[in-house]
Amino acid sequence: MTKPVVAIVGRPNVGKSTIFNRIVGERVAIVEDMPGVTRDRLYSHGEWLDREFNLIDTGGIELADEPLLNQMREQAELAIEEADVIVFIVNGREGITSADQEVAKILFRSKKPVVLGVNKVDNPDMHDLLYEFYSLGIGNPFPISGSHGLGLGDLLDEVLKHFPEKVEDDYDPDTIRISLIGRPNVGKSSLVNAMLGEERVIVSNIPGTTRDAIDTSFTRDGQDYVLIDTAGMRKRGKVYESTEKYSVLRSLKAIERSNVVLVVINAEEGIIEQDKKIAGYAHEAGRAVIIVVNKWDAIERDDKTMQKFEQKIRDEFLFLSYAPILFTSAKTKQRLQHVLPMVKKVSQNHNLRVPTNVLNDLIMDAVAMNPTPTDKGKRLRINYVTQVAVEPPTFVFFVNEPELLHFSYERFLENRLRATFEFEGTPIKIIARKKN
Ligand code: GDP
Ligand code: GDP
Repeated sequence: MTKPVVAIVGRPNVGKSTIFNRIVGERVAIVEDMPGVTRDRLYSHGEWLDREFNLIDTGGIELADEPLLNQMREQAELAIEEADVIVFIVNGREGITSADQEVAKILFRSKKPVVLGVNKVDNPDMHDLLYEFYSLGIGNPFPISGSHGLGLGDLLDEVLKHFPEKVEDDYDPDTIRISLIGRPNVGKSSLVNAMLGEERVIVSNIPGTTRDAIDTSFTRDGQDYVLIDTAGMRKRGKVYESTEKYSVLRSLKAIERSNVVLVVINAEEGIIEQDKKIAGYAHEAGRAVIIVVNKWDAIERDDKTMQKFEQKIRDEFLFLSYAPILFTSAKTKQRLQHVLPMVKKVSQNHNLRVPTNVLNDLIMDAVAMNPTPTDKGKRLRINYVTQVAVEPPTFVFFVNEPELLHFSYERFLENRLRATFEFEGTPIKIIARKKN
């Protein structure tokens, strides 16, 4: 199920990131504690009236050195390409500028739904400021104040009206959806081509997704697979596509649609910040993850190289300690035969269900081995544990005081689960709920 995408467009300083943060709210705080995950505010999840969506701040995509008007055009095009609904923000205190008019023109021509937010309308006396914005010709202006949090509810109500009907991707639930993500030139397309080889594949355009999302379906050893958004790997020429953040953005959409994410790293270049960022999103999204170190043919190796590289990955991707690592070469086809079996295995682990009685016995044993923590004289008491979801496996711990379940004890419990059950390649979620 793909979430609708909402993009925020507007000139610098009109308040886009303030509004972005308001809409995203506190929901991201949980993952910010995760070591190794650096977050930028370009892309996040929002929720309004039980509808979830993804939110992009196009202003977060740097198009350095471009004149303002070009930047605005690129932003608008990006939004048109990626979003289901566009929120166009203007500054009520400044009135309409020529850049606003330019953006309005591009958005209007695209026929995409646009919701116009007139920001910095901090109190009701200022509503007169709205009238001139009707002349932009893109519908009713909504008065908002990002910094005071006013008017956003009405604006979001309007945004929701334009969401597409909920559509499920048209694949059988048993089909494993794979995406390959990683920086340009790490070898994603080469890996896909080498893996598919002579395979008979079906290439399809996916309605309701980005114009050129192209999926590739195939069957291997009786298992159906689909490679998500293989067209997204294609090189394209526009300014924003060469920017790092844009390729991150593309990856995020592919991650959303997949069950298993192959994080591809170039053995020649090692690990860089962007790899961590992308892998961090896969982890946060709860996807199964395999790390693929490609171009293994291209580096000097001795009998310690693989071990050293593996250690480096473990140090850099602390949050992905569960992810298996494969060292491959799309060029020589080295170890490519292990990729799909590994995908199948981690997908099974991603879907593993632990029977409640087995789970509770395990946790009781764990607590006997390592007593629960205390804080200010109070001891954490775990009353009952149950698995509430798969993909990823999610466990609810009913406890006396949820705050007493500290990170380190949670880690311990997770490790016990991993030691007992086959969870390689999948994140595990642990949720503490109060129940005496
Ligand atoms: P962006 O460049 O469009 O992302 O704009 P920012 O969100 O960084 O905001 C630019 C400036 O406008 C900051 O100083 C904000 O504090 C201010 N600002 C944002 N929203 C409002 C608002 O609703 N009212 C007022 N008065 N100032 C705002
Ligand atoms: P993408 O941008 O991640 O899809 O990367 P490509 O598949 O387009 O590959 C980028 C470049 O790396 C091309 O010149 C490939 O021929 C080369 N390449 C890809 N995989 C390998 C590999 O395993 N070994 C070597 N030596 N080169 C590779």
